[in-house]
Amino acid sequence: MPRQPILVLALLLTIPPFAARAEEPVDLAMMTRIRDEGLHHSQVMDTAFHLTDVIGPRLTGSPQLKEANDWTRQRFADWGLANAHLEGYRFGRGWTFSSCQVRMVAPRVAPLYALPKAWSPGTNGPIRGPVMRVKVETEKDLEQYRGKVAGKILLFNDPKEMKEPEDPEFERYSAEKLDKLGQFDVPKEPVDSRQFGLARWRLRKAINEFLEKEKALATVDASGNLNGIVRLTSGGSWVPGESVGVPAVVMAPEHYNELVRLVDGGFPVEVEIDVAAQFLDGELQAYDTLAEIPGTDKKGEIVMAGAHLDSWHAATGATDNAAGSAVVMEAARILTALGVKPRRTIRFALWTGEEQGYYGSLAYVRQHFASRPETQDPKQKELPERLREPTWPLLLKPEHAKLAAYFNLDNGSGKIRGIYMEENAAVQPIFTAWLAPFADLGANTVTLRTTGSTDHVQFDRVGLPGFQFIQDELDYIPRTHHTNLDTYDHLKRDDLMQASVVMAAFLYDAAMRAEPLPRKPLPQERKPSLPQPLSPKGREGS
Ligand SMILES: [Zn+2]
Repeated sequence: MPRQPILVLALLLTIPPFAARAEEPVDLAMMTRIRDEGLHHSQVMDTAFHLTDVIGPRLTGSPQLKEANDWTRQRFADWGLANAHLEGYRFGRGWTFSSCQVRMVAPRVAPLYALPKAWSPGTNGPIRGPVMRVKVETEKDLEQYRGKVAGKILLFNDPKEMKEPEDPEFERYSAEKLDKLGQFDVPKEPVDSRQFGLARWRLRKAINEFLEKEKALATVDASGNLNGIVRLTSGGSWVPGESVGVPAVVMAPEHYNELVRLVDGGFPVEVEIDVAAQFLDGELQAYDTLAEIPGTDKKGEIVMAGAHLDSWHAATGATDNAAGSAVVMEAARILTALGVKPRRTIRFALWTGEEQGYYGSLAYVRQHFASRPETQDPKQKELPERLREPTWPLLLKPEHAKLAAYFNLDNGSGKIRGIYMEENAAVQPIFTAWLAPFADLGANTVTLRTTGSTDHVQFDRVGLPGFQFIQDELDYIPRTHHTNLDTYDHLKRDDLMQASVVMAAFLYDAAMRAEPLPRKPLPQERKPSLPQPLSPKGREGS
């Protein structure tokens, strides 16, 4: 095969080396202005300060999140954006907590560090009881505890192993890692994450109902993070009428392990828990914040940026995701401050209910772009919507044809290093050209890989061009993600300024481009696939 490379080389030489770039014009004068406004007159940290220190945790359904909705709407309006408004959707019960005190009272007295799971009931004053270890991995495991847990405080996990950290606690992408990210991995056997979510949802529901009926006093979980960090999510339920179980707290692993050792050592351990928490049933709606820079000759078409405004309640939700919200708002401020008159309308969205299953973006996509037929299966109707089988066909609304692009930011405070193309090869030359003016700020990787677990997925799933940026991880997973350490101190000013500039540039580029971004084919209902050849392991088993 010696001749082939020569042939390829000859072919390559006939194409100008930067043909793709030449076809994708970038307004460098505007990029200069965006950099100037974003890097020399930034307000991104002021916005982040207000969302975190002033407003505080923004759990969906809490009064603070509504305050954040109102404040962000007003901020957009003050900056001169048009049509700043809230769009409501049905979420469920609100929940808020004001204090949590947990201490060991026997065999000795000591304070313990713990926080309540969201939507778990408060204690109405201090409650005290003996501690008992349980192990529940399936619904069947509950049976052995029938008649045995009344009045007890249940330790729900094995002790947490105190491992030496293998990965660095703070990390930026190296050139090598970015290069690897640019390589596409052939997809593994698909994992049905819906089935996994369904099993988890069923188990939690069964546990809540069982513990409430059996009159257990409270539950204690060990936090998943080490070193005094409390990472938490929800315990009870925001769905009206569903059991919320018994008071449930998550404890720092070092304190949890202490309780386990004492119980295992045969000492009678007693714990006192005092959680002031409240369900709010007055309003079952939650809201997204929206605002626009109106377009000109293509104003009927839309370019969108989004991030989720809601957070968990363990801290002030700084990196998850006041960071992304502040960047989206700062991009809006930069473009308005520059007085840009985009061809397409640029719309900014701050989603809520993201942490509970993308409620806000899902409701918005359904309302504006595409919906699915209501399921007729009564078994499916019993499930929360996010866990139901998708129904077909997709019902497209007129606005579906008008969305030119959606850009999301939700991976912490790290700067933008590039963008995931969601397997849409046609956007590669476009994104490469758009990132080129920001290579000196560290953003120059385009990967065909997909990324999940955030709001752009709701757009992608109905055939819309929705994308999430690649961000430096920093200490997001080891320290801040859903933890008591997710505070303003873990925000990185320079990173958020850089991300705001790149976000503003992408929105401008997409709003000015001659054509909307190329799309992937519309998702289709999957027909049963052809039988796959059995793997050797499969053959053995059959
Ligand atoms: Zn998030």
